[in-house]
Amino acid sequence: MPGPGDSSTAPAPPTAAITPRCPRCGYDQSGAFATWTDACPLNSRCTECGLDFAVCDVMNPRRTDLPWLYEHTPGWRPGFGRAVRTLGRALLPWWYWAGVGLACRVSIARLLVWAVLLFGTVHAAGSAVRTYHVVDYLTLVSRKVPSEYLWMSIANAWLTPLVRIDWFGGSAWSFRFPFGSWGWQALAALAPLPLVPAMLLLLGSSRAVTRVRAAHIARAAFMQLTIFILPATLYALTALDQSQRAWTANAGQPFIDLLRHWGGHVMAACGLWWMAFWYFAIVRGFRLPKGPLVWALLMVAAVLLAAIAATLDPRFGLMLP
Ligand SMILES: [Zn+2]
Repeated sequence: MPGPGDSSTAPAPPTAAITPRCPRCGYDQSGAFATWTDACPLNSRCTECGLDFAVCDVMNPRRTDLPWLYEHTPGWRPGFGRAVRTLGRALLPWWYWAGVGLACRVSIARLLVWAVLLFGTVHAAGSAVRTYHVVDYLTLVSRKVPSEYLWMSIANAWLTPLVRIDWFGGSAWSFRFPFGSWGWQALAALAPLPLVPAMLLLLGSSRAVTRVRAAHIARAAFMQLTIFILPATLYALTALDQSQRAWTANAGQPFIDLLRHWGGHVMAACGLWWMAFWYFAIVRGFRLPKGPLVWALLMVAAVLLAAIAATLDPRFGLMLP
């Protein structure tokens, strides 16, 4: 076991090879830093976007690694504790963005692992219960269930609500994507997700809005998906309903029923969360000048796009007076 003084395990000190970049816009600070001849100031201001930043944050990106953020999990550890703590904070966006500043190192790979870990766990829990119910039900109905039917049912238990497999005997299989039957609520909920990150990139590159590094925008684009943990958990919980165990006959129906019963409330809560998320991302996380105004304009665009997307479902027309 090497001691703490062992140079082979100590974190490498920042080297001159690091190009100092503005934490917000990514502008190269080498020119400004080159003018320091006698002393190195503790703080500096980006000439491009006006951000005041601590020079040490720029010279050593790992200095501000957070002890709870999943993106900063050291090495190859799975980091289950961090995954839960990050989720807890992310569900309260003002708390999350108070901790995750512009100096925070972005790890896209860890963000991907985090999403797979969270949604995978919730989905696997629901699917395991569904599998149990399906097998239990089929053996109750008949002792001679064709193995194709059994495997089809188990596969559906894991693929719901994204894919639906049907077996009509022999080699007659069909695969369907029941996404279309999710309705206008899903269209309205999904359409604005890529809009805000795309607009921030576009407005930043056209200088209409202060530029924010693509990595920061990518992090926010990822973290906005956190809210889907609520519908995903609700859907997993429908697996517990014993009356749904014959659900192979109408896979995806529990989700549609769930949306019909709770759709309005869940959608409103998720929509408010999403708006709060972007407010704190833009104002507190990115510290954009005129942040509240930028946020308000983006939200107007998002609501318009959601309404346009909803009209793609003809049933939405029936909702209007
Ligand atoms: Zn800058």
